[in-house]
Amino acid sequence: MSTRTVRRVVVVGAGITGLSAAHRLMVDRPRLEVVVLEASPSPGGKLVTNTFAGLPVDEGADSFLVRVPWAVDLCAELGISDELVAPSARSASLWLDDRLRPIPSGSVFGLPLDPGSVQPGLLSDEDLARLAGPGLPAEPLSAGDGPAGDLSIGEVIRSCAGQAVLERLVDPLLGGINAGLADDMSCAAMAPQFLRAARSDEGLLATLRLAMAEADPDAPIFNGHPAGMSHLTETLAGRLGDRIRTGRRVTSISRLGDRWSVGTDDGAEEADAVVVTAPAFVAAPLVEEVCPTAGAALGGIRHASVSLAAIAYRRSDLEVPYDQSGFLVPRGSDMLMTACSFAGSKWSHLDDGEHTVLRVSAGRIDDDRALHMDDAELVAVLRRDLAATLGVKADPAEVKVKRWPDSLAQFPVGHRRQMAEMVLALGQDAPGLYVTGSAHNGVGIPACVRSGNEAAFAVSEFLG
Ligand SMILES: Cc1cc2nc3c(=O)[nH]c(=O)nc-3n(C[C@H](O)[C@H](O)[C@H](O)COP(=O)(O)OP(=O)(O)OC[C@H]3O[C@@H](n4cnc5c(N)ncnc54)[C@H](O)[C@@H]3O)c2cc1C
Repeated sequence: MSTRTVRRVVVVGAGITGLSAAHRLMVDRPRLEVVVLEASPSPGGKLVTNTFAGLPVDEGADSFLVRVPWAVDLCAELGISDELVAPSARSASLWLDDRLRPIPSGSVFGLPLDPGSVQPGLLSDEDLARLAGPGLPAEPLSAGDGPAGDLSIGEVIRSCAGQAVLERLVDPLLGGINAGLADDMSCAAMAPQFLRAARSDEGLLATLRLAMAEADPDAPIFNGHPAGMSHLTETLAGRLGDRIRTGRRVTSISRLGDRWSVGTDDGAEEADAVVVTAPAFVAAPLVEEVCPTAGAALGGIRHASVSLAAIAYRRSDLEVPYDQSGFLVPRGSDMLMTACSFAGSKWSHLDDGEHTVLRVSAGRIDDDRALHMDDAELVAVLRRDLAATLGVKADPAEVKVKRWPDSLAQFPVGHRRQMAEMVLALGQDAPGLYVTGSAHNGVGIPACVRSGNEAAFAVSEFLG
């Protein structure tokens, strides 16, 4: 360990994970020198808000889950909790059987806990009868992957609630989170409450019903910010000040005695500890030489690409229901669109009384058609889908396309175990080097804040 009195930590990447890690270190360990190296000209990563149709519209994430603590606690610490807003519209629909059908109220990731909440015709009588029961697995669930016993969400739901519930409700909802496939998704990583409940003696549905009975049905599930989600990263960046160095792409990480050398396009930075928060496919080549296990684990993580079009219509051309936040389109439909968010109904700060702003998404792990279309073609196909679903044929007032290639990490069965093994290997091969980010605890903003915090605690412990 270095005998220098001021220890230096380099954080790679200034998205929400890197900014959270750096902020935690700055607050908890004020004597440390913290430097954040960011490749792009500005911090924020995937939290981007821009003016569209005169309104602050998010081009990526527009809200975060408030039923888990990490982002909520960070906002409290930053003094911006009072500014947060809940969506005005909470009900959403699914495009099924050529019409919009409401997602059953009180469902968990689309899994209805009360068959009475399911719109007639959406499921068969047999499916509904099963949903009225405890949700015991048809066959005992397999031990799964290793000691953690992970299973795919598809396997759990199919076994406890049936194929139709999986295909028509749960896969579309969960697929909306990371553009993935429920049959390939780790239940332990993405929906641990399902795994625990499915393995209980009481059954999946009975256990979830009990848990939901304790939750406040009126408590908000998500929060956003009237200035857009980039307000969170801008506030963090403001606190970190000149600790953030933009336009500094990290190209290598190597040992320098008992310290680290972080190479960039513009010279090297020395550090006692390094936290890499760039996407897994960027981190993999940076760490593979010093820790081949970590390099291989990170390099094997798949990412889905998504495209998001903001489309504004004049109110006279399209008005969407005020009590609806939007709809999802399950795979297997002939549409390119995967989701349509009614931004002005969802957020009062995006309702100017003149326009209806839609945020329309395309792209899944098994569908990269949107990536191969130019903007004009993509918008034309999405407008065809909007005509089929909402009946709107008028020309939009304004359109903006944002591409997010390789943006959403996938969590296959056994993902948690693999990440734990990677942390162990890094500890052995490369003490003082930490890798985290959206591929670790989850892609959502709270999970990223948690990942940043955990990396900061690990650095603190390492530096003593
Ligand atoms: C379209 C879309 C919608 C989403 N919606 C939601 C939502 O509503 N709610 C929610 O909770 N989550 C949502 N997410 C997920 C969430 O936004 C992301 O998972 C999260 O912002 C990722 O943060 P991060 O810091 O881990 O990674 P990033 O934001 O990717 O940050 C990584 C940073 O590293 C930098 N970098 C890369 N390479 C280098 C290098 N070599 N050297 C230095 N810097 C480098 C990048 O420029 C970037 O700034 C959405 C994601 C997308 C794509």
